Amino acid sequence: MSAIESVLRENRVFSPSAEAAAGAAISGMDAYRALMAEAERDYDGFWAKLARETLAWRKPFTKVLDESDAPFFKWFEDGELNASYNCLDRHVEAGQGDRTAVIFETDDGVVTHVTYRDLLERVCRFANALKRRGVKKGDRVVIYMPMSIEGVVAMQACARIGAPHSVVFGGFSSKSLNERLVDVGAVALITADEQMRGGKALPLKRIADEALAMGGCEAVKSVIVYRRTGGNVEWDASRDLWMHEVVAQEAATCEPEWLSAEHPLFVLYTSGSTGKPKGVQHSTGGYLLWAAQTMKWTFDWKPADVFWCTADIGWITGHTYITYGPLALGATQVVFEGVPTYPDGGRFWNMIEKHKVSIFYTAPTAIRSLIKIADADEKVHPKSFDLSSLRILGTVGEPINPEAWVWYHQHVGGARCPVIDTWWQTETGGHMIAPMPGATPLVPGSCTLPLPGIMAAIVDETGQDVPNGQGGILVVKRPWPSMLRTVWGDPERFKKSYFPAELGGNLYLAGDGSVRDKETGYFTIMGRIDDVLNVSGHRLGTMEIESALVSNPIVAEAAVVGRPDDTTGEAVVAFVVLKRPRPEGEEAAKLANELRAWVGKEIGPIAKPKDIRFGDNLPKTRSGKIMRRLLRSLAKGEEITQDVSTLENPAILEQLAEVR
Ligand code: ATP
Ligand code: MG
Repeated sequence: MSAIESVLRENRVFSPSAEAAAGAAISGMDAYRALMAEAERDYDGFWAKLARETLAWRKPFTKVLDESDAPFFKWFEDGELNASYNCLDRHVEAGQGDRTAVIFETDDGVVTHVTYRDLLERVCRFANALKRRGVKKGDRVVIYMPMSIEGVVAMQACARIGAPHSVVFGGFSSKSLNERLVDVGAVALITADEQMRGGKALPLKRIADEALAMGGCEAVKSVIVYRRTGGNVEWDASRDLWMHEVVAQEAATCEPEWLSAEHPLFVLYTSGSTGKPKGVQHSTGGYLLWAAQTMKWTFDWKPADVFWCTADIGWITGHTYITYGPLALGATQVVFEGVPTYPDGGRFWNMIEKHKVSIFYTAPTAIRSLIKIADADEKVHPKSFDLSSLRILGTVGEPINPEAWVWYHQHVGGARCPVIDTWWQTETGGHMIAPMPGATPLVPGSCTLPLPGIMAAIVDETGQDVPNGQGGILVVKRPWPSMLRTVWGDPERFKKSYFPAELGGNLYLAGDGSVRDKETGYFTIMGRIDDVLNVSGHRLGTMEIESALVSNPIVAEAAVVGRPDDTTGEAVVAFVVLKRPRPEGEEAAKLANELRAWVGKEIGPIAKPKDIRFGDNLPKTRSGKIMRRLLRSLAKGEEITQDVSTLENPAILEQLAEVR
């Protein structure tokens, strides 16, 4: 691949305040550089020290990194521990049993506080119930549940008995659920009668029944159902059990299963923005280490903080920054059942105010939609709420456009709170490239620098380093503890997808394009490699054109894809959502011309979209990511033949297919 050109210039810089730096885990850039240098000097020693300090080991490890079967790396393999013990028992044993672990708020606003002692007891009871149903170490359990305390309990209970869980997001269809049950070979399924989101009930149990009826998953012997709404469900007495009934008869203590650090903690299927989902398998020790450590480094977490990650437990972000990271440290965190727009677009701000949230972590897609709503209605604008408890803001999931970044910083963070743009993936287990709140000067739209110990780099198609300022392929040069161990049941696919021979076989291929700044070395993610456009021989990242469009005051969201073009090779096609109602006819043509000129001015004539289509929305995965592969088909005028089961809003495809 030749260079990807970086055309957008960002000159705003926000440095950490002296106050933020003073108390931070990593205070100042010298401290950051010292950690990085330590990792480079003695890689094993660097990780071993963190693993000993951060986790409680039943049996200490004697070996750190084992590269003998690369790329199937092993970390701390002869060490033994239990993730649930680390997340619960050790805090209770340290006298923290009365501390609030979870502040849970339902869709309709009911709040429950759960202490560490309560949570431990609930996890033990449920772990005992699973064991009574014959679930044992190494068995896989699929969890298909709403955002709930019970969902966290189910995951932790699996971890306690060494049964790898595979959480399937509650918005997935019966077909998607069936595929995952079959692929992972589940012996039990944990679900709920219904799920409440935005005032609407979704029949999880019914979908689960359908998924089981599709066949291939006869190994599932028990279906344990959490009663959320009391709605009607079909019942198969040979297999179905109520969660509240099975736990009622169990003891509140359960000896954790002591496991090798390499024992699989979970398998999580990637969201499928780019194709057939892969079962990403994570380890117990290395994964948990990084979940906890990144809480300290990227979020500068302190015991007084109230942490809130708005992700669903069905995604990696919910695994690492709800179920494992915060609990491993003994943090107090908010867990939310609902959606940001119900009962209105002020829900997040209202909850931050009410629960005095100090660290808030959400996705660019949520921010962009809330900007649109706040602009239209002052009552739900963040300025109408007391957000003074906030200290740190985070974002993940997609590149955040500089304009959305600046709005988040100014209106949510009151220009006080650093915006921590965290680049990482299901496969990486935890944050990889992100600023440190007390050290890194921030540049909107850039995820800045790798975390200490993470050897990220940018290379060309042959695996050679490219100079700063030149775009290329984002890779990681050394294995790190929380990396995926394999693709469940498909080691060949693991090797091919993540350590391709074309790059020499020893670089982790992330699949994203990136560029480093000439002066600072900061990373900017330019989108997925598959999404890079080639216009008249110039390789352009979709992200920059989208950012240019979104920086126009009338634009709420934009997605850019390529379409084959006789003269330029590829032409830029933009799908745009305005902050005003969708324009049609002449008005649409006029606005399209204006936006074309705007992109020409912001980036250059080469990036001007040939075709601009307006929609009420964009096709997104259920995790909120724009599905560019579908837009590519629409741009070419093709019929959609791809699997759209993970799409949040399938109806939008028809609207966007219309050629003006
Ligand atoms: P699939 O791999 O099945 O297509 P997915 O890649 O969307 O799904 P995730 O692992 O949840 O599943 O997402 C990781 C991807 O999200 C990254 O590879 C990157 O493209 C994007 N991403 C995540 N965080 C950021 C960020 N801070 N900046 C830019 N892109 C990001
Ligand atoms: Mg991916």
